[in-house]
Order: sequence, then C-alpha cells, then structure tokens
Amino acid sequence: MMKKIAVFPGSFDPFTIGHENIVRRALPLFDEIIIALGENSQKKYLLSLEKRKSIISSVFKDDAQVKVTSYKGLTVNYCTANNANFILRGIRNSKDLDFEQAIAQMNKKLDDSIETIFLVNAPEYSAINSSIVRDIYVNGGDVSEFLPKGISLEN
Ligand code: ADP
Repeated sequence: MMKKIAVFPGSFDPFTIGHENIVRRALPLFDEIIIALGENSQKKYLLSLEKRKSIISSVFKDDAQVKVTSYKGLTVNYCTANNANFILRGIRNSKDLDFEQAIAQMNKKLDDSIETIFLVNAPEYSAINSSIVRDIYVNGGDVSEFLPKGISLEN
C-alpha cells in the first residue's frame, strides 16, 4: 500500500492552537503529515523561518508522523516531490471556505492526482488568526493562550 502523506502548507506566523488542533485531528487520517512553510519573498513575516520551524518541531517532538519543512514554488509541485497525494487545510468560517475552495480548485487543475482535504475547526478556535495574534503581540499583549502549550515567541 502506498503511504498516505499529507502536506499542511501555511505561513504559521505564528503557529497557533488552531493549527495544532487541525494537525492532531488529521493524524489518524494519514501515515505522515508534512507541515510545510511556504517561503514567499513578497511577504513580511514577524518570525524568522528558523524560529517558526523550531516552534512547530517542538510542538510535535513526540509525534514521529509529523515532519516540519519549508518550500518555495507551487504547493502541488512540493507535494509531488514528496509523494504526498493530499493537501490539508483548515476552515474557520465562510471567508476561509471561499478562499480555500478557489485554491483547491486551481490546485486540482494544476495536478489532478492531489486531493485537498478540509477539516472544519472546533468552534473555540474560530477567532484565532495568526495575523491578529501578531498584532496583539507587537502591541505588547499576552498571546500565550493562543499558542501551543509551553511556546513563547521570545528567543
Ligand atoms: P496561509 O498563509 O497559507 O493562510 P496560515 O498559516 O494562516 O497560512 O494557515 C494555514 C492553514 O491553517 C489554513 O488552512 C488556515 O485556514 C488554517 N487555520 C488558520 N488558523 C486556524 C484556526 N484557528 N483553526 C483552524 N484552522 C486554521
């Protein structure tokens, strides 16, 4: 049997408990989940790529099924290169749904062999959004309750 490998692509700036919940709920569905940070030169990030990777690696240090990497270019090409037939994404609300539907349909056009799998988030995570967490953090607010246990954004 072919291994079921999913890529969970994102910026994860920062990785929140909403992201963590999606990955943990997807673990029983796949043999391996590759959390893949897209490197976009146009985007301004709060945290460095290395910092974002090290946070996510520490969250899943006891989960051998989870790998943390980064990539440039098209997500579907990255999937093919890693024998992943699935893209994992989370849906919080109708805005996510509209956006994610378009991306999934375009990805399907680009590579028909890759399926996007959506998990609808648990309601307690609906408002957790990396860009709002960043705003709170840069303005001196406490964001620890939105981050996985034991994670701090300080170096
Ligand atoms: P991107 O820059 O690609 O939007 P993000 O890091 O913001 O990447 O999000 C990656 C994925 O995680 C997306 O599918 C997004 O919808 C999902 N996601 C983000 N926050 C949450 C949350 N609180 N609950 C569930 N899914 C979420």
